[in-house]
Amino acid sequence: MSVASRAIPLCDLDAQFQTIEQEVRVAIDKVLREQNFILGPQVAELEQRIAEYSGIASAIGCSSGSDALLLALMALDVATGDEVITTPYTFFATAGAIARLGARAVFVDIEPQGFNIDADKIEAAVTPRTKGIIPVHLFGQMAEMDPILEIASRHGLFVIEDAAQAIGAAYRQRPAGSLGTIGTFSFFPSKNLGCMGDGGMCVTSDDELAERMRILRQHGAARKYFHTHVGGNFRLDTLQAAILLVKLRFLDQWNAARAEHAATYRRLLQDSGLGERVVFPAELPNRKHVYNQFVIRISNRDRVEAALRDAGVSTAIYYPKSLHYQKCFDEWGYGEGEFPESERAARESLALPIFPELSTAQQQVVIDALAVALS
Ligand SMILES: *Cc1c(COP(=O)(O)O)cnc(C)c1O
Repeated sequence: MSVASRAIPLCDLDAQFQTIEQEVRVAIDKVLREQNFILGPQVAELEQRIAEYSGIASAIGCSSGSDALLLALMALDVATGDEVITTPYTFFATAGAIARLGARAVFVDIEPQGFNIDADKIEAAVTPRTKGIIPVHLFGQMAEMDPILEIASRHGLFVIEDAAQAIGAAYRQRPAGSLGTIGTFSFFPSKNLGCMGDGGMCVTSDDELAERMRILRQHGAARKYFHTHVGGNFRLDTLQAAILLVKLRFLDQWNAARAEHAATYRRLLQDSGLGERVVFPAELPNRKHVYNQFVIRISNRDRVEAALRDAGVSTAIYYPKSLHYQKCFDEWGYGEGEFPESERAARESLALPIFPELSTAQQQVVIDALAVALS
């Protein structure tokens, strides 16, 4: 089949599996023979590797990126009445974790170029109830961390980096997850390092916090059946850790391929004369972007999305509705129109297919379809 006649997925996990199938099967087989499914040796080994990868002392495997955020907030004692500053333009879990603990998310609008929280607007949102800030490194590019860390330090706030989409990214050469009080990763299958189910990780250089998170992920019991805290079951499966150990070895290579595809998209968009009509994702100064998503902005987005779908090109909208006016957060009292940049991004953004195995021929099909859609 020619490339043009075949649908182009947003993310092709099957293509990736074909390149590592043998190694993954060997790793899974080993776990099956050992039958050590809960916090087996592969979990500790992965924690060690992710800590090294992130240039940080400790890593704590957990059940998902969402639970990693919850665990981090629990370890930092976030509770009813507290406020946590974050972005309204992110996956639900970022604000959901805050709400789960009875705390309130105080939203701050994004800066339109990088889609991340606007550091210049954070200080005005700090109140005596503020406990911390959760910047999200959206689409694989880190937020402007220096001013965020400076404000946090001046007001005695924690910083949790939601690095679910940004493992391998960097800010001034410092790895994502290593700059804040705690960093969190997700291993959801479509993330740059994805497992074959759910998984996540917290990283920190604070030994006390690391210990608290280890206890909290096992129902608050450092010694089995002796509970010092009310925690939860937030453990990472041994099977997922074994799979991730295989995949971690390829992460840098895969991230480099994503960055190359981003450069190719930019060139093809430019060559096709679409440069005027489409806003490309910006690569901001001092950052290494790992392109979990390649998100363009266009004014007539919904029509373009439908046309691409008809042409067999899968796209996605991250995210169609900002979190500040989601029904479940009504009690926080935000309304439509309050965060115009976030709402504009929700109207204009469109994620094009990007994954390490994407071919230039496939990218050309995407750009040609985009040109037709925009004509
Ligand atoms: C994926 C994601 C999460 C949640 O991770 P899960 O592993 O799916 O629970 C949290 N925050 C952001 C920004 C994400 O993209």
